[in-house]
Amino acid sequence: MPMRSLRGVPVSPGLAFGRIQVMDPTGRPLPSRVVSADRVSTEKERLDLALDRAHSEALAAEQDASQRLGPQYAEILGAHARMIDDPELKREAHERMDQENLSAEHAILEVLDGRASRLEQMSHSYFSARAADLRDIMGRILDQLQGSPPTDSEEAGPVPMQTGLILAHDLSPSQTAALDPSRVLGFGTEVGGRTSHTAIVANALRIPAVVGLGSNLLVLAHGANMAIIDGDEGLVILDPDTETWKHYERESQQRSDRRNELRGIGSLPSITRDGSEVVLWGNIEFPEEAECLIAEGAEGVGLYRTEFLYLGSDRPPSEDVQLAAFRAILHGVRGRPVTIRTLDLGTDKLPTYMKTAASRAGDRPLGLRSIRLSLREPEFFRTQLRAILRAAGFGPVRVMFPLVTTLEEWRRARCLLEEVRGELIAEGYEIPARVPVGVMIEVPAAAIMADRFAAEVDFFSIGTNDLIQYAMAADRADESVAYLSSGADPSILRLIERVVEAARARGIEVNICGSMGGDPHFVPLLLGLGIRHLSMSPAQVSEIKNLVRVLDTSETAGLVEHLKELDTANDVMNRLKRFLEDTLTRTGRAGATPSEDRAG
Ligand code: PEP
Ligand code: MG
Repeated sequence: MPMRSLRGVPVSPGLAFGRIQVMDPTGRPLPSRVVSADRVSTEKERLDLALDRAHSEALAAEQDASQRLGPQYAEILGAHARMIDDPELKREAHERMDQENLSAEHAILEVLDGRASRLEQMSHSYFSARAADLRDIMGRILDQLQGSPPTDSEEAGPVPMQTGLILAHDLSPSQTAALDPSRVLGFGTEVGGRTSHTAIVANALRIPAVVGLGSNLLVLAHGANMAIIDGDEGLVILDPDTETWKHYERESQQRSDRRNELRGIGSLPSITRDGSEVVLWGNIEFPEEAECLIAEGAEGVGLYRTEFLYLGSDRPPSEDVQLAAFRAILHGVRGRPVTIRTLDLGTDKLPTYMKTAASRAGDRPLGLRSIRLSLREPEFFRTQLRAILRAAGFGPVRVMFPLVTTLEEWRRARCLLEEVRGELIAEGYEIPARVPVGVMIEVPAAAIMADRFAAEVDFFSIGTNDLIQYAMAADRADESVAYLSSGADPSILRLIERVVEAARARGIEVNICGSMGGDPHFVPLLLGLGIRHLSMSPAQVSEIKNLVRVLDTSETAGLVEHLKELDTANDVMNRLKRFLEDTLTRTGRAGATPSEDRAG
C-alpha cells in the first residue's frame, strides 16, 4: 500500500514505530486480514453462521425489550435484526471475500465500517444514529465470529497479539488503562478529543497517542502493515517509505536529546526571573507514578484521579485496598503533599458493578457523574472517605471534591467527611485535626459562586478540561466540536480571573489541574492572572519549570492586560504564541518552543 498520512489530535507525546494491530470495536485484536484462497469457503460458512446467530440474538433482544419496555423501544432492536438479515450485507461481504481472500472478521468489518463512515460524513443527527446502529450490529456479529458472549467494552482491555501499534475506532479510559506499555508502543483512534480521559490515561502510561483521526482510519489501516505515530504533532503515517522512516528515526534522536537537556531542570527551584515561586504539582492516575513525579521535579501530587482504582476491576476496591494505594503514593513522594480527589466516576468512566447508576448516568457529560454520583451512592463514597482520612495519619493528605456545582453539594460532602471522621475516631483511629479540604472549580456555576465557596473551603483547584467543556457547551471527547474547546476563549479567561479574585480575597490557594496548567502557551497567562500553583502530568513538569524560570511576573501581568482587550479565542491564542516565542527567543531557550498543535 502507498504511504498515507492522517492528521488527528495529539494527546500523548512521543514517537512510536511498529507493526499495526487493528482492534475490533470491542477492543479485541482481529485475525489476519487475508486468508489463503482455499480457506475462503470456510470463512464464508463462519460468516453465515455468525450472521444467523447474531440475527437470532437481536430477535430475542427485541422480544425481551418488547415485554419490558414496550413495542416502541423494541422496534430499535427489531431494526437491528433486519439489518443483520439484509441479504445485500451478506452478498457484499461474500463478494469482498471472493475478490480479496478476506477473513470473515475483516469482510464484515470493512463492509459495515465503510457504510457507517459514509453516514458519519453527513451532518444530520439521523445519519449519525444510523451509523451508531451499524457499529452496534458490527459488534454483535464480531462477537459471534470470535465465539464469545458479548463483553462489556468498558471492561475488555485490548490485548495486542504482538508488540506494536494499536489502531481502533475508539478506546475507553478503562481499555486504555489496561494497555501494557511494553507491548503497545503507541495508539491511534478514529474518535476522541484533546482532554478526554482516554488521552489523560495515555499520558500517564507514556504511550504516544493521537485521537480524532477520522472515520477513514480503520478502512485505510486494514490494508497497511507498518506505521509511525507522532504523538507530538498528531500524525499517523501508514506504511511509511524508507525516506520518511529515516527522517523519523533522526527526529526521534533529536527529541530524546531535548528530553535529556531538560532532565537537569528537575532539581532546580521553580522560581520566575523576578523571584516569584510557582509550585508545580503532578497529576497522577496510578500510584506507581508518584516516585517519577518527584524525579521530574514536582513538589507533590496536585491531583490523584482515584477513579482508576475502581475501573478495570469487577468489584469496588475495599477501604484497605484504597488505603494501601494512598500510602504507596505518600511513600513515593517522600513526605510531600498528596491531593486525593474523591471518585469522579460517570460518563466515560463507569465500572460494571455500578450499572444501575450507569443507566441513570448514561454516557452524558451533563448527567449523574462525579460528586453527584458519590452523593447518590454514599456507601462507595463513605468507604473512600474512610480510606482517605486514615491515610492522612501517614502523611500530608488533602481532600478534593470534583465537579461541585452548588454550595449544598459541597456542604453535604463536607458533612459526610466529618461524619466519617467521627466514626473513625470512635473506632480508635488517630486522624489529624486538620486535613485541608478543597473543591474543584470545573462547572461555570461554581466559578460564578467562587466568592461564597472561598469563604468555606481550604483551596480551589480549577479543572479547566471540564470548565471549558461546560462553559463552551462542547463535549470534551467529541472532536467535531474541538474547535470550541479552547482555554484561549475570552470567557474562560474571565471565569478563571473571577475564581482567582475570590480566592485572593479570602487568602486561599488556587491551583490549575486541568490541561491548561501543563501547556506552555497558557502558563504565562495563568501566572499573569496571579496563579502560583500548577498541576500537570509528570512528563510535562520539566518543560514547564524551564519556562517558569524565564518568565517575569510583571511581563505576564502586562500580557493579561492586553489579552483582556481581545474578543476571540484565535486572537488570544495568537497573542499567547507570540509571547511564548518572544520570551523563549529572548532568553535563549528557543529550542524549547512547543509544537503549535498542542495548543488549545
Ligand atoms: C479537569 O476537568 O480539568 C480535571 C482536571 O479533571 P478530569 O480531567 O479528570 O475531568
Ligand atoms: Mg474534571
